Amino acid sequence: MPYVITEACISVKDKSCVDVCPVDCIYEGADQLFIHPDECIDCEACVAECPVEAIFHEDNVPAEWKSFIELNAEMAPQSKVITEKKKPLADS
Ligand code: SF4
Repeated sequence: MPYVITEACISVKDKSCVDVCPVDCIYEGADQLFIHPDECIDCEACVAECPVEAIFHEDNVPAEWKSFIELNAEMAPQSKVITEKKKPLADS
């Protein structure tokens, strides 16, 4: 069961999670980042790094953000993998 990036990432894209992910399974969409569910190894390292607390284990995603489970699975394979932190949107 993978981790999921939810609504708080939208328009933030801080990307601190990218630096700690040991398997580079975080992808960049237009508005937010996504975790590829088939590649995530459930290490939880990204959770503590996220300054907006956008990342949850799939089993613990708050009810109002459950749709992000499917969104991450759908969008990650279509998005560009990112392997190092670039500028967050808020600073650009
Ligand atoms: Fe990467 Fe681990 Fe976060 Fe999965 S839980 S996205 S493997 S840092």
